[in-house]
Amino acid sequence: MQCYVFFDIQGSGKGTQAKFLSERTGFQHVNIGDLLREQVALDTELGNEVSRIIEVGDLVSDDVIYKLIGDSFCPGCKGVVFDGFPRNIAQAEFLMQHFEVKRVFFLNLDQEKAIARISSRRVCSSCGLNYNLVSDVPSKKGVCDDCGGKLVVRDDDKPAAIARRFKKFYKRTFALRDFFETRGLLSEVDASMGIEEVSAAINAIVDSISSN
Ligand code: AMP
Repeated sequence: MQCYVFFDIQGSGKGTQAKFLSERTGFQHVNIGDLLREQVALDTELGNEVSRIIEVGDLVSDDVIYKLIGDSFCPGCKGVVFDGFPRNIAQAEFLMQHFEVKRVFFLNLDQEKAIARISSRRVCSSCGLNYNLVSDVPSKKGVCDDCGGKLVVRDDDKPAAIARRFKKFYKRTFALRDFFETRGLLSEVDASMGIEEVSAAINAIVDSISSN
């Protein structure tokens, strides 16, 4: 199956861009973080197993991630936009073995800007819908437009967890940049631009691949 991949420093907007690309290509958007949080919200066995790991900003085990991915495809799905996978080299090797990787987008953003963006994120404590106090503001302050639930800061967006996630990012995930660059699959996009500009840059790359 064909796929596009997004990875980034947290806060650079991969979720938004992955969603745009999924709508444009008709590929299924697979957001691993959301799938994990859904399990936690549903209070499943898997959710209980991973909730503490997510809360402290550690990585969930590779086997759990592979199972989640295997279970996530819609029938007739023609391709996938991965958002938050892979996050280490073992996962990248798994990806290369099981998927035809069209392009890997690394959304680059300096750490200070990333922290500023993360601190404006909110999530509905009831249905899990994401908001941003700058770019995706709820109609009523602190309340979910969809279900009326209370908007809260994600546990893993709190300062101590953010610091740990950045450390993990630099330790493990950054190596992905070299991994995909060596294989000629990497496109680095400056994520400090506005949402529309980042999206246009991604679309131009996708179009140039398709026309080759
Ligand atoms: P995200 O919403 O992408 O920032 O993901 C939230 C959390 O889910 C991460 O901090 C990890 O704990 C976990 N997670 C998401 N994707 C992966 C992955 N590919 N491998 C391991 N853990 C993951």
